[in-house]
Amino acid sequence: MPEEKKVQLKRLNSSKVLGKFMAEYYYELDNAAKTGEKKIAWCTSVGPAEILRALGFLVYFPETHSAMLGSSRMATDLIPKANAVGYSPDICSYLTADIGAYLAKVSPLATIFKGIEGPPKPDVLVFNTNQCRDVQDWFNFYGEEYKVPVVGIHSYVGVQDVTESHVASISKQMKAMIPLLEEVSGKKFDEDKFKEAVALSRECSDLWKDVLDSASAKPSPLTFFDGTTLMGAAVVGRGTKKANDAYRELIAELKDRIANKEGAIENERFRIYWDGMPVWGRLSMHAKLFAGLDTNVLASTYCNSWIFSALDPDDPFDSMARAYTELFIVRADDPKEKYIKDMLNFFKVDGIIYHDAKTCPNNSNCRYGMPQRLEKETGIPSLTLNGDLNDLRLVSDEQMKTNVEAFIEQLEERK
Ligand code: SF4
Repeated sequence: MPEEKKVQLKRLNSSKVLGKFMAEYYYELDNAAKTGEKKIAWCTSVGPAEILRALGFLVYFPETHSAMLGSSRMATDLIPKANAVGYSPDICSYLTADIGAYLAKVSPLATIFKGIEGPPKPDVLVFNTNQCRDVQDWFNFYGEEYKVPVVGIHSYVGVQDVTESHVASISKQMKAMIPLLEEVSGKKFDEDKFKEAVALSRECSDLWKDVLDSASAKPSPLTFFDGTTLMGAAVVGRGTKKANDAYRELIAELKDRIANKEGAIENERFRIYWDGMPVWGRLSMHAKLFAGLDTNVLASTYCNSWIFSALDPDDPFDSMARAYTELFIVRADDPKEKYIKDMLNFFKVDGIIYHDAKTCPNNSNCRYGMPQRLEKETGIPSLTLNGDLNDLRLVSDEQMKTNVEAFIEQLEERK
């Protein structure tokens, strides 16, 4: 068994810039909710934010609140409150933690940001089922509670190739939402503002891609665990200039690290690719566990989910429809496997970890033979970790640690 090391995690200085961006984002929402100066739309994390920005909405993403409930380890105690009103413990623990927090009238926002009591009240809720059906049920709950309209895009799942008919259908659904959104916002849909939002989103996506691609350097200047918090601005800020400015500072720091051959961990011997969601309540523990084994988990299917390279301001509706359907989570196993193979190569990976998140089958890719098929094709070994994104009752720390240590020993033997 490898000897346990004391590990000090290295922080990126620019994480403060991203932290400031997130604080300003939540204060702006809170102020709008209190003064009524701007309308607020709630949107799913890969929903049509650009349309909402064009109509002057401030956009709030409940999934980021759920991730905070996870990382603050509040989620586990709140989930039973949602179970008690009919939401099963087996469904998305983002949903159950968030609804549980609403019922208990608590929020990590209140602890982190002085003066904010909780999420801003919505004027409208907008979902896209491209990631899962849970988001629709989640938003319908709040639509009932707040007595505001819920509108959504019903997307495809298990998509092999994204075709023109997929694009046409999603594009049509997006256009069909606009009259209702105009009514709620009290503003006419402005095509120029829409194009501008799509252009800013595309820029954000390109910058975020540069951030994540920096992990292909040896040693990698970035870890997956850094990425899960740094990505906040790509989730909530795409379509705004401020998010892009924050990422430029981060990229400059990552480039410095690469030029100085400074790794995100002290002694990078093994490079791991992570498939699926993080365990939010164990981010720091996992970062230390891997760093202590001279292993960098440096890239993931998860953080890459906010890269939308198809976005094109000259063709805003269709390119958005394409970008939000080309996503990894929407695709069939064949394109998913091809994508992962490309990533293993690009990031020069020694092993893959699949997180089988009990309450998110949509973002767990190890249940239908993918690890075995990919290992056969690439020769790169894998490990499946059973756990969950938010419900820590489904996570065994000891078992995870033992499995990870044994996996790294296996990689050691192969060196
Ligand atoms: S993709 Fe998974 S974690 Fe995200 S909302 Fe859907 S079920 Fe929840």
